[in-house]
Amino acid sequence: MKLEVNPNACISCGACNAIAGEIFDMEDTAIVILDPIPEELEEAGRDAMEGCPTGAIYEVTDEKNTDVK
Ligand code: SF4
Repeated sequence: MKLEVNPNACISCGACNAIAGEIFDMEDTAIVILDPIPEELEEAGRDAMEGCPTGAIYEVTDEKNTDVK
């Protein structure tokens, strides 16, 4: 699983970092620090994705399509 954060949508609320601090770090916006997400952290990653108030976290499923935000 590969997750990314759209920095234009992230409001830096820190929720993803609180839910899954192993996956997300906070700079000006949230950043994903694990790539790919290990299987044992995928559930936490999905929880963070669902918990993001702006939907800024998205799963990248097609490497050729990473510029679709
Ligand atoms: S939960 Fe969403 S809006 Fe909040 S810091 Fe994480 S990516 Fe940004």
